[in-house]
Amino acid sequence: MKNEILAVLKNSRDYISGQQLCDKFRVSRTAVWKVMEQLKEEGYEIEAVRNRGYRLKSCPDVISEAEILSVLQTEWAGRRTVCYKETDSTNNRARDAGEKDGVHGMLFAAERQSAGKGRRGRAWDSPGGSSIYMSILLRPDIRPAKAPMLTLVMGLSAAEGIKETTGVDAKIKWPNDIVADGKKICGILTEMVTEIEYINYVVIGVGINVNQESFPEGLEGKATSLRIAGGRTFGRAEIIAAVLKAFEKNYELFLEAGDLSQLRARYDRLLVNLGRDVRVLEPGNEYEARAKGISDEGELIVTLSDGKERHVFSGEVSVRGIYGYV
Ligand code: ATP
Repeated sequence: MKNEILAVLKNSRDYISGQQLCDKFRVSRTAVWKVMEQLKEEGYEIEAVRNRGYRLKSCPDVISEAEILSVLQTEWAGRRTVCYKETDSTNNRARDAGEKDGVHGMLFAAERQSAGKGRRGRAWDSPGGSSIYMSILLRPDIRPAKAPMLTLVMGLSAAEGIKETTGVDAKIKWPNDIVADGKKICGILTEMVTEIEYINYVVIGVGINVNQESFPEGLEGKATSLRIAGGRTFGRAEIIAAVLKAFEKNYELFLEAGDLSQLRARYDRLLVNLGRDVRVLEPGNEYEARAKGISDEGELIVTLSDGKERHVFSGEVSVRGIYGYV
């Protein structure tokens, strides 16, 4: 009920009387009062005026179930959300749920990660209080070979959700990063457990640098935050909700087509590499080429200097600009 009451408070400009809340949720005045006390303890500023009722004055920027659910506009993505003050990696929590009875669309989010993960065993810097660390559990009925495309579905959704809520000119660096001003603001890590013929579950982790003012040595030249790029702070729950809303829509389009054909044009429009010369770093094989966009299967299409076209599969590959990170 706490989540629902918070949503009502958020959606009404005027005072809401205690009686209205009692009637709506069929509970006692004391129960409503207790919820208000809980919300205050969590940092919500709630004004209570005799004969008028309650009014929400301000919300804390916290990662909590109540805060996320009060702004979420999805059918299934994140409808069940579990939040942690700290965990090693939200991908690990989603994997645990995948091994048990976790449902499709379940979301795991944390204020801080003690062992945030990047691709190929690398670390994701995960300080507390300023960023988004979230992982969604999926149980898609598709062939395992198609699962890597889900990273691109999330990449597009993250870029769209970020742009919509913050106005920051977020671009996709194929296959799994979002950049702004040539630096990384978001990384995506997809992990899955499959049999030969079918997928048990897929976990897509998304780390977004939201309100950091600076980065540790070594990351400074490569990482940025929405605050640095956008010049102000942003509420994290709204960004989470926008990314999940975009993801839900894009995921349905992906399932419908069985590939990225319905997302490709939008993806290419946000692709930072488009039309640029890039250095493709495949294990044991590095070369330069010009990026032309993605294929329906999510490969990066590049043209080599002899004019030949090559499709780069996302698996183990990184792409860099010729003179820098993008
Ligand atoms: P690359 O960005 O080199 O092409 P990648 O996309 O595979 O590789 P990831 O595995 O997604 O990289 O992310 C891990 C890397 O991202 C780390 O090695 C580090 O360089 C960088 N990184 C770590 N934490 C952050 C952060 N909070 N923000 C931005 N970049 C980070």
